[in-house]
Amino acid sequence: MSRTVAKSSTPVTCIPEGCTIPIQKKRVVVLGSGWGAISMAKNFPANDENTELVFVSPRNYMLYTPLLPSVVGGVISETSVMEPVRNIIHGKALYYEARATDVNVAEKRITCDDGDKTFELEYDTLVCSVGSVSATFGIQGVFENSMFLKNMEDARRLRNHINKCIERAALPCLSQEERKKLLSFVIVGCGPTGVEVAAEIYDLINEDVSDKLPAEIRDNVTITLVDGSKAMLNSYDIDIQRYAAKLFHGRDIKIRFQSIVKSVKPGVVNFVTPDGMDSVEFGTCVWSAGITAHPLVHLIRSKIGDVQDSNRGLVVDESLRAVGAPDIVCIGDAAIVKGKNYPPTAQVAAQQGSFVAKTLTGGKDTEFSYFHKGSMVYLGDNDGAVDLPIKLPFLRFIGGLLGAHVWKTYETISQFSSRTRFAVAVDFLTTKIAGRNTFDS
Ligand SMILES: Cc1cc2nc3c(=O)[nH]c(=O)nc-3n(C[C@H](O)[C@H](O)[C@H](O)COP(=O)(O)OP(=O)(O)OC[C@H]3O[C@@H](n4cnc5c(N)ncnc54)[C@H](O)[C@@H]3O)c2cc1C
Repeated sequence: MSRTVAKSSTPVTCIPEGCTIPIQKKRVVVLGSGWGAISMAKNFPANDENTELVFVSPRNYMLYTPLLPSVVGGVISETSVMEPVRNIIHGKALYYEARATDVNVAEKRITCDDGDKTFELEYDTLVCSVGSVSATFGIQGVFENSMFLKNMEDARRLRNHINKCIERAALPCLSQEERKKLLSFVIVGCGPTGVEVAAEIYDLINEDVSDKLPAEIRDNVTITLVDGSKAMLNSYDIDIQRYAAKLFHGRDIKIRFQSIVKSVKPGVVNFVTPDGMDSVEFGTCVWSAGITAHPLVHLIRSKIGDVQDSNRGLVVDESLRAVGAPDIVCIGDAAIVKGKNYPPTAQVAAQQGSFVAKTLTGGKDTEFSYFHKGSMVYLGDNDGAVDLPIKLPFLRFIGGLLGAHVWKTYETISQFSSRTRFAVAVDFLTTKIAGRNTFDS
């Protein structure tokens, strides 16, 4: 395995005196190609004379995560929500497709690995935007027996698995019990991702599968949401929580509140409820119960020392610099801003990315402040809910068909490029006219 050290960049010419002074550009290394990192790239000026910007990420595309549930449902194609990093950073930055595996905080150097080669990069400033990973809370069998939805590989695996279960349920040699189990979809976590996955499975069954497959498929499908709390969509307005619960209840989507999962065994999830132990058999179990800090974040924390006192992420000050290591900036899901309680959302990550682009290019290191633009959720069957940032006495949220249209329009126009904007619009239209992609590949 070869190992090279990339030193800081080449000297630049000092124009006013007409002389060459060996000053060096400062190097900003950005870890990640997600919401925080790409928003930073978009807001970074092209050809900045003072900064060499370098992106390092094992994923050479930006992923529009809010539409991952629609990819699972076969509404949106995979490539419609993926934009190559190089299209976005072109003319502004270098990109290395590799994973950061170590950070030498004292010497300001990172180690990167692409699976074959290892190399090191020096930095003046390190921007850590590596996101988060799914939390299993150490619950027995979650990792082995359930499916996740954090990235495109997860979405592809889940879509294929769901379609495979449906096809298998149509085989003639199955007992009724086996068929019911295959068609049981359990989603653990009633946050927006869990709710949207349930909504997309509901649409898939009702709009595409029911009239193309034998009636016993439709009749035996069950969708169950399991959550330890007393409400769904906890971070949304109470009226939206009630609206969504009523809607799901009317569609016979079961919601098991106050149900704390104790184990996930092959084909069965066990949980404890106020009335005692209970369980649901499944063909598909989607684990969408929360997130936790990325392993690289834990590593950086350990290198900085005890001042990093939260195991939920890297603690940063109001200018997003890591406490105990001001040359490290941390944004997005990986960051815990001291004294604030920002949600782990694309909205927060994007605003932080844009803030960092400004502060690193001459702007003052002022305090980051988050502006909440509202949130949305798709509820299935052409219904959606838009949680307004400003509540009016007569209008707390937009629901129903209008809510679904606002959601669809917003998710289309908010794409990172014209190509994906166009592709998403076409996918929504194609699904409306010709149905979903239901093949398992
Ligand atoms: C299914 C789903 C739906 C969502 N819907 C919404 C929504 O509707 N609205 C909303 O606001 N938020 C939504 N979110 C949350 C949002 O996606 C995250 O908050 C956001 O992605 C966080 O941005 P980030 O830059 O911190 O991390 P990410 O966007 O996750 O990016 C992390 C990047 O780091 C890279 N990386 C990982 N390890 C390394 C390493 N060792 N070295 C270098 N790079 C590394 C990854 O490849 C990736 O490019 C959703 C999330 C999911 C999973």
